[in-house]
Amino acid sequence: MILGCLIAMNVFPVVKSRDLLFDSKCSSMLNQASLYASSLSTLNVLQADEVGKVMTLMDDQRLSRVFVTDREKHIVYDNTVQQDESAEALAPEREVEMALAGNNVFFSQLKAGAVSSRACIPVISGGSIIGAVYLYEYDTAQAALIESLRLNLLSISLITAISALLVGLLLGYLIAHRTRMILTGIRGIGAGRYDTRIEDRGLDELGEISGEINLLADRLQQIEGVRQRFVSDASHELKTPLAAITLLSDSIVQNDGMDKATVREFVYDIGREAERLARVTQQLQELTKLDSKARELREDVDLGKVAAEAMKMLLTLADQKDVTLSSNLAEKCIVRANPDDLHQIIFNLVENAIKYNVTGGKVNMLLYHLGDRVELVVDDTGEGVPPDKLGSIFDRFYRVDESRSGEQSGSGLGLAIVRDAVLKNGGTVEAANRREGGMRFQVSFPAAEEGEEHRRDRRS
Ligand code: ADP
Repeated sequence: MILGCLIAMNVFPVVKSRDLLFDSKCSSMLNQASLYASSLSTLNVLQADEVGKVMTLMDDQRLSRVFVTDREKHIVYDNTVQQDESAEALAPEREVEMALAGNNVFFSQLKAGAVSSRACIPVISGGSIIGAVYLYEYDTAQAALIESLRLNLLSISLITAISALLVGLLLGYLIAHRTRMILTGIRGIGAGRYDTRIEDRGLDELGEISGEINLLADRLQQIEGVRQRFVSDASHELKTPLAAITLLSDSIVQNDGMDKATVREFVYDIGREAERLARVTQQLQELTKLDSKARELREDVDLGKVAAEAMKMLLTLADQKDVTLSSNLAEKCIVRANPDDLHQIIFNLVENAIKYNVTGGKVNMLLYHLGDRVELVVDDTGEGVPPDKLGSIFDRFYRVDESRSGEQSGSGLGLAIVRDAVLKNGGTVEAANRREGGMRFQVSFPAAEEGEEHRRDRRS
C-alpha cells in the first residue's frame, strides 16, 4: 500500500504540473503567433524584405526561432539564419503544412531537461491564407523546475519507503519476539512448570494476554500447591492409623502366647484405628463434595430445626463426656442454603464443643436474627485455643495439640469442612476465645426473604 501511494505521489504531481506548463505554453505561444500573424496580415503578399521590416519591430527574445513562410512554404524570414539550430527546429514541414491548411498548430514536449514547444498559425490577409508564422521555443528553466519537483518527490518517497520498511521490520520483529515469548511461557506452563511467568510489560493486547496467562499460572501454581499439600497431608493422615493397625495385628500374629485379654485389647485398638480411618475418608469425601460443588441444591431452611436435630444426635456423646447441652433458638430463622451443609456445620461445631470441653462443662447454642442476617453461636466451657493458633484451626488437617487430638481421635478436617460449607452457602464463620473461658464459634448467614417476612409478621 505504501509503495502504491509513493508511486502515485511521484507520478501524479509531475504529470499534472507538466500538463499545466504545456497548457500555459500553448496559450502564450499561440497568442504571440497571432500577434505576428495579425501584424503580417497588413501585407498582401509575404516577401522577404517587407516581412523582415515588420518582424524586426516585434519582440522575439523568448523564442529560439521565428520564421515566416509564404504560401509555397518558402521561408521569407528566419531569425536564426545566422545561427546553428537543432535538426528538429529545422524540420517544420508538418506544422507549416497544417497551418497553411488553415489550422492553428501547437506541439510541446519535455525531453532532455528542456521543454521544446512549436506553434504555427496561418497568416490571413483579405480572407485568404498568404503564409504561415512558425515559433519555436526551447525552455530549460521551466523544465528544471519540474525536474527539481520530481527529484524532491523521489527523495521524500525514498526516505518514506526506507523508514516504512525499517519500522515494519522492527514492529514485525518485536511482535514475533513477544509472541514467541508468550508461546514459550504457555508451553512451560503446559509442561507443568507453574512457576513460569511471561516477562512482557506491554500495554497493548499482547501485554494483556501475557498478564492473563501469568494470572492463570498463579492460580494453577496455587491449586497445585494446595493439591500437593492435601495429598501429602491426606496420605500422612491415612498412613498413621494403617501403621498402627499393621503393628497391632503383627503383634497378635507373632505372639503365640498372648493372653486373651491383651488380644481383645489389641483388636479393640485395631477397631478404633479402623473407625478413625473410616471417619477420615468420609470427611475427605465430604470435602471433595464441597470442592466439586456436588451439592448445589439450595432451599429455604429453618436453621433452628436443623440445629435442634444436630444437638439431639450429639446428646449421647455429651452424656459420655458429662457435658450439658443447652440452647436458645429463635423461631423462623430461615436461610437459603443446602440443608445437608447446614447440618454438617452445626454438627461439627457442637461435636468439637463437646470433644474439647472439660468434664462437667457446658455447651450453649444461640440462634437469632441480627439485621438481615441470621446468627448462630456455639459457646463452650473448654480450654479454648491459644490466640496465635486461632488463625489456623480452619486449615485442613490442622490440630492445635497433636497429642491431645490423637487422644480425641480428631482428623483436623472438621473445621475445614465447616469453613468450606459456610462459604459455599454465602455465610461467614469466626472463632474466638471467650473471656470467661472456652470458645465461641459464630456463623452468620444472610436471612432468606421468606425469613424477612416471618420477622415482620412476628414484629407485627
Ligand atoms: P478435629 O478433627 O481435630 O477436631 P477440627 O478441624 O474440627 O479437627 O478442629 C481443629 C482443631 O481446632 C482441633 O484439633 C482442636 O484443637 C481445635 N478446636 C476445634 N474446636 C474447638 C473447641 N470448641 N475448643 C477448643 N479447641 C477446638
